[in-house]
Amino acid sequence: MQSPAIRQALGILKKLRQITESSSDVAQKLADILKTIAETMQADAAVCYAVVDKNYLDLFSTYGLKKEDQKQIRLRFGEGAIGKIASDRCSLALNKLWTYPKYAKSSELNGKDYKSFVGVPILQWNRTVGVLAIYYCAETEYTDVDVELLETIAMFLAEIMSSAEMAEYKKSLSKARGIATRDRLKGVSLSKGYGIGTAVVHRRHQSVTNIFAEDKNKELLRLKVAHQQMNDDLDAKFDTTKLGIGEHVDILEAYRMFAKDKGWYNKIETNINSGLSAEAAVERAYEDMWNRLSGSNDIYLKERLHDLRDVSDRLLSYLLGENKQSKDIDAQDIIVVAQTMGPAELMDYDYSRIRGLILEDGTPTMHVAIVAKTLNIPVLSKIRGVLAEVHSGQTVAIDGNEGWVYVNPSKQVAEGFRKKAMEQAELAKRWAALRNLPTVTKDKQKIGLYINVGLPMDFDYIEATNCDGVGLYRTEIPFMASEKMPDVQRQVMYYKDLIDKSGDKKVIFRSLDVGSDKLLPYWAYGGEANPAIGWRSIRITLDRRAILRQQIKAFLQATVGHELNVMFPMISDLEEFEDAKETLMLELEKEKKHGAKVPAKVNAGLMIEVPSVLFQLDKILPKADFISVGTNDLAQFVFACDRGNPKLLERYDVLSVPFLSVMKMIVDKAKQYGVYCSVCGEMASNPLEAMALIGLGYRNLSANGAAFGRVKEMIRSINTKEISDYMENLLKSSRTMVRSQLISYANDHGIEIY
Ligand code: PEP
Ligand code: MG
Repeated sequence: MQSPAIRQALGILKKLRQITESSSDVAQKLADILKTIAETMQADAAVCYAVVDKNYLDLFSTYGLKKEDQKQIRLRFGEGAIGKIASDRCSLALNKLWTYPKYAKSSELNGKDYKSFVGVPILQWNRTVGVLAIYYCAETEYTDVDVELLETIAMFLAEIMSSAEMAEYKKSLSKARGIATRDRLKGVSLSKGYGIGTAVVHRRHQSVTNIFAEDKNKELLRLKVAHQQMNDDLDAKFDTTKLGIGEHVDILEAYRMFAKDKGWYNKIETNINSGLSAEAAVERAYEDMWNRLSGSNDIYLKERLHDLRDVSDRLLSYLLGENKQSKDIDAQDIIVVAQTMGPAELMDYDYSRIRGLILEDGTPTMHVAIVAKTLNIPVLSKIRGVLAEVHSGQTVAIDGNEGWVYVNPSKQVAEGFRKKAMEQAELAKRWAALRNLPTVTKDKQKIGLYINVGLPMDFDYIEATNCDGVGLYRTEIPFMASEKMPDVQRQVMYYKDLIDKSGDKKVIFRSLDVGSDKLLPYWAYGGEANPAIGWRSIRITLDRRAILRQQIKAFLQATVGHELNVMFPMISDLEEFEDAKETLMLELEKEKKHGAKVPAKVNAGLMIEVPSVLFQLDKILPKADFISVGTNDLAQFVFACDRGNPKLLERYDVLSVPFLSVMKMIVDKAKQYGVYCSVCGEMASNPLEAMALIGLGYRNLSANGAAFGRVKEMIRSINTKEISDYMENLLKSSRTMVRSQLISYANDHGIEIY
């Protein structure tokens, strides 16, 4: 038997369907839909808000509003009655609207004219995508049936709100209002921050159109000049670039030698002599090499093909006069846009002028992303078709916090970005000023605040932040930056450099965590259907034990006289951890047996990243000296949700009751067994999420160097007792998503969550 609301809804939905199937444009359809709703429910006005930028709602379509109310309205989630419906995802019926405490008269509709109101969220996969509301001039009593009816209609509206037609309409409407969403592209944020500047499109591979040349001598001269210029520039770049020590230097050195290779140069000359243009001769030289080497099983030789491709592209860019990309642009602020790029290519630009980096294909562990992050440059990736949409010379604004790129933004948006970028710089100064203040909460609780490092450049953050130590050294990063597997001696050099910079501070070395999206160029990976859950990380190093043993040996030698903390990633069960730990202890014994000096203390720990270990904590914790939660992988596996897939980005949230409950269980168990416990995943780098972690009981966090200041500022503005009580209640609540509640909590308690 249908409820009265459903019966009524069926009638109205029939009408609404007729409207949507009509040939009117989407704006007209929306207006007709609201009119039908208002008439059916005998309301004086009906409105529909749509979510923009995740946390805001724009008044989108209206029916029956008084003239003075037909204005542009933007509300924050949580602001006013409409914002409350959006953030709480529940309906609200009020018959003395002006008495509602949250009613924001300044920005919502005129409270004097409309006395009563019913509003419902428009939800898609449990996410608010809009709010539908009806208003009455008279005070009106509502029944549950009215609310239920509106909720049913909202379900129908959700379908329309997510249609492609609506997306187009939304864009054009926003554009008309001066918000350049027509040219707004969504990506995955790899490094936070705001930037605005002139786009410089970095093209990897120029197409060669002039194949033949009549004047050989002219071509030979062009080649000579371009080749000389390229090498001079590379030498100058190499000599002036300060990338610290490590394999990056080797990469550049190898690159430079390749560019000077005589055999390669002679081959190009031969091709010119046979009648080709200089550009075509470079391409032919590459093709010949490719034909010879691509079938080889020798990975090293195959890798040389990548080098040759890079150097060929570079030489082509000199021949085609496209090598002066950044110099040709007068702009002081540039945004580099590329399909993908290597660290050598990033050096083509003046770091100090880069305000943002946009990559069509990119992962957080790509060198270029890591380098940019270290330099505090916002980076966005996975923006399909960005190279088709963005052209050199256009103004581009990049929002590395929310993951948006604005192409040719309106004056207002551009102004907003400049302001934000300036605010960001001010904030950075403010955070730097915290350096010598203790990392304690308002109620005097010490929070251990560490940093995550990978590249030698990151090591500078130890001094700059005055952190408590290194909570995660991603040792795979120098491996990835290397030309070939680094031997023990070279590894000792990397690790010792970190130990020297850390002094007596705690350092946690993570054993090699490769595979999935972190590939070593010199390693043959068989194609895997599901690399994130495939042969990666500890699974590789336990199978290729020599690699693990060598790495452990290097750890031991680099930390003589210090405490050595070795952390094993992606542990899925007790035996894996025991096996890895035993390898560590055996290597220690070997060193001792050979009379070598050893670390003062050796601790073995593991990362909590795989859900199966959650069910073995009682067995694993007594055997572990410490644990650290890798929330990036843990969330990916708890939600069965690829961490790099932009389509799934907003679908699940670590600030949700299920995930926070998991996090709580881990910290509680660690306390029970007296085991040092920290978080080194991205949650610890985000002040709001870090606040929640402290509320759950975490007292050690390891953040990115660039995020350190903002997390420290949050810590210094928090009261652990209050946030713990709040979190305890929040976990008991019936809702699932709690991000907006935590934002409100932070705002209400003056907690800094920038
Ligand atoms: C994690 O998974 O949270 C983590 C810190 O490891 P990575 O991001 O390097 O996989
Ligand atoms: Mg991980």
